[in-house]
Parts: sequence; C-alpha cells; structure tokens
Amino acid sequence: MGLNGGYSGFRILLEGLSGNRGWRPAWRDPAPQPAYDFVIVGGGGHGLATAYYLASQFGEASVAVLEKGWIGGGNVGRNTTIIRSNYLLDGNQPFYEFSLKLWEGLEQDFNYNAMVSQRGVYNVYHSDAQRDAYRRRGNAMILHGADAELLDAAQLRAECPFLNFDNARLPVMGALVQRRGGTVRHDAVAWGYARGADRRGVDIIQNCEVTGFRIQNGRCTGVETSCGFIAARKVGCAVAGSSSRVMQAAGMRLPIESHVLQAFVSEGLKPIIPGVITYGGGHFYISQSDKGGLVFGGDIDMYNSYAQRGNLPVVEDVCEGGMALMPMIGRARMVRMWGGIMDMSMDGSPIIDRTHIDGLYFNGGWCYGGFKATPASGWCFAHLLATDTPHETATAYRMDRFERGYMIDEKGSGAQPNQH
Ligand SMILES: Cc1cc2nc3c(=O)[nH]c(=O)nc-3n(C[C@H](O)[C@H](O)[C@H](O)COP(=O)(O)OP(=O)(O)OC[C@H]3O[C@@H](n4cnc5c(N)ncnc54)[C@H](O)[C@@H]3O)c2cc1C
Repeated sequence: MGLNGGYSGFRILLEGLSGNRGWRPAWRDPAPQPAYDFVIVGGGGHGLATAYYLASQFGEASVAVLEKGWIGGGNVGRNTTIIRSNYLLDGNQPFYEFSLKLWEGLEQDFNYNAMVSQRGVYNVYHSDAQRDAYRRRGNAMILHGADAELLDAAQLRAECPFLNFDNARLPVMGALVQRRGGTVRHDAVAWGYARGADRRGVDIIQNCEVTGFRIQNGRCTGVETSCGFIAARKVGCAVAGSSSRVMQAAGMRLPIESHVLQAFVSEGLKPIIPGVITYGGGHFYISQSDKGGLVFGGDIDMYNSYAQRGNLPVVEDVCEGGMALMPMIGRARMVRMWGGIMDMSMDGSPIIDRTHIDGLYFNGGWCYGGFKATPASGWCFAHLLATDTPHETATAYRMDRFERGYMIDEKGSGAQPNQH
C-alpha cells in the first residue's frame, strides 16, 4: 500500500500483523505550481470540502488549497462538533438538511472515520411561549423533509433525568428533538476531506499565506502569497474568522465582524449525556465525547477580536448556564478550554456568492454554526465555482441581500452580529 492507500478493516488487520509499518502520510506535501484552474484560500473544513467536491463532483483536475497555517488549526478543529438541521427559515432549512444528508454518507464517500454520531439534539424549553416557538420550528423542519419531535416533561425526563426539571424560575417543560442531529469528530473531518481531495489530485499547500489578490481590469488573475504569486482562473475564499481581513486585500468591506467563541472540556466521565442538549433559558449547549469528556460552550465573548482565546467573564456565564440546566455538572472538573474566531454576519446567516470582481468568489459569515454546514458549504461553493450558478439550496446566500433587504435572520435579532 503506497501513499494514500484506501482504509479498510482488512488493511488494519494486515498492518496490525506486520508491525504497522505500511502506513504513509494521508496527503502529499506538494510545492505550489505556478498556475491552477481553481485556487481555494483557506484549508479549514469549508475550503477542503470545496476542493474535494470540485474534484469528485465536478471533475476538476487543477485545484489547490492554500492554508496559511496547518490543516485543522482553525475553527474546524476548535468547534464543539454539533451537527443538526433544526432551522426555521426557508433560506436556511433546505441547505442545512442537505448538509445533514451529506454527513450521513460522508464516511463511506471519503473513506475516513469521522465518527459521525447521530445521537440526537435536544432543545430544551421552559415556557409555553418557547414550546410554541419550538413547535413552529419543528413543523417547518418536517415540511422541508427533516425530522423533528416535541417531547413533554415526562418524555424528556425518561431520556435525560438529570435535568433541573423543578427549577423555580425556568422549569424544564420539554424539548424539541432532532434525532438525526448529533456530533462528528471535528478534526477528522478536516483530515478526511484533505485526504480525499489529495487522492483526487488536489494540491494542499500548508504554510502558504495569501497576502493579496492580483486584479487586472476588474478580473482576479491569481493570488500573492508567502510562497510567491500563484495564477488562477478562479479564486474562492473560505477563510472563516479571517474573512474581513482577507477580502480587504481585494478592496472589499464585508458585512461581517470577527468575534471570539470559547469551548470547554471536562475530565472524562462515564456515559451520562445521551445526545446534544441546549438550554432554553440562556446560551449553553453540551454533549459528551466518546472519550467521556463533557464538551460544552455558550455565547461569544461579545467584543471584536482576532485572538484565538477568550476571557473569564464568559467562562463564568457558560458555567452558570450549565449549573442552571443540570446542577450535577458542578461536580465535574474542567480540564481544557480554547477559543476560535467567528465570522459573524449581520443577519446570522452565511454568504456563498460571486463578488463584483470577476473570478473572485466568497464563502463566509458562518457565525458559530459553520461546522454542521461543512459538507453542504463545500458542495455549494464547488457548484458555484464550477458552474457560475448557485446550488438550489444556497440561492438565498447572496452578498447583496443586505442592500436589498432580504435578510435571513433566524434569531430575529436585527443587524447585530454579536447577537446571532
Ligand atoms: C469554540 C467553537 C465552537 C463551535 N461549535 C460549533 C458547533 O458545535 N457546530 C457548528 O456547526 N459550528 C460550530 N462552530 C463554528 C464552526 O467551527 C465554523 O463556523 C467553521 O468551522 C468555519 O469554517 P472552516 O472550518 O472553513 O474554518 P477554519 O477552520 O477557521 O478555516 C479557515 C482557514 O483559513 C485560513 N486562513 C486565514 N487567512 C488565510 C490567508 N490569508 N491565507 C491562507 N489561509 C488563511 C485559516 O488559517 C484557517 O485554517 C464553532 C466554532 C468555535 C470556535
């Protein structure tokens, strides 16, 4: 088995019997070529998925991904791993459902164990009004072909008996459940897409920062990088938290702000949390990793930043949310925390679109929900790059919706990036 040989149970057995000496790097380390048909800026989940689908679905052979650091060093390897398609609005629901369907077949597709685990997502409600809102959301999901189930307190207690049902101020009254939602091992997604793209001839070039765009007569002809100029017929940017900074180099000012979001992991515990649980009385969500750590998070840090670390007031706020929802969490010790940079858009929804510069395309504004979108985002961006038309599930993610007034404001918070 040479470089990038396929993975299988038989191969694991063979390698186990022969001292595991046959494994090779999962992707090559190529030097950049002077020109490509497609250059994808950003080797996060979205950039790698875009390259993978350009090669696998659209038969494109000349594709490079340029990553300023290392594969998996950005948000794709920093998130709390939750996948779901429990969206309300027409602009969002079909897209996220498409993504969930792609997750369901992803491991077979790219031949990599990404530990896709459909253990269910429970959105807990605490009032009649919140139940009615969740009922409406669930109905919208079902109308779009997704699954949704509304549980009352007794049904939820049977599945999650440790919740704070009798809290005097915010009693737990039930939950909206999406059983097909769950978690995926985040960095394995980056590795799986990287390996799959590499096998199809995509050059993945790490430690190569894009510093500028060469734009001649309104057309982007390539990128300036720390490895020199690289020409391209089309350039797609998928740099998440760095979106405003990178697109500024093309003279664009985006409707996006960058904010820090933190994540937390406890010591390993025996299995206790059945799926993903979100608190309806504040911002707190939790799941349990296969190693046993409780993985949880809450709000962004509420100030603009490009730092990949957060501050203590939000640590306190997140832990208070956890204590209110499930007081038992106070017995667990927290062992790790980190931050990532979120590309928060004005309406909380993403952009997958061409720009006013020919040959330059943009993918961003994922706020803190872009991990679950990774497969569909890659597929739809590849579709746009290859065909110059938007994919049918991403027609609403246009850049000009902010000037035309067609917001996709899932939360109803208005033009407040830190509120979405
Ligand atoms: C703590 C936390 C928890 C989260 N939890 C969830 C969750 O549970 N569910 C969910 O759906 N989403 C979640 N998210 C959001 C999700 O992780 C992001 O929306 C998504 O990963 C962003 O897309 P990406 O993977 O392409 O980003 P990234 O992995 O950040 O990729 C962007 C890449 O671009 C590179 N780059 C930047 N500038 C340049 C340049 N000039 N040249 C070359 N490369 C460049 C960066 O180095 C980076 O690797 C969370 C995020 C965080 C931080």
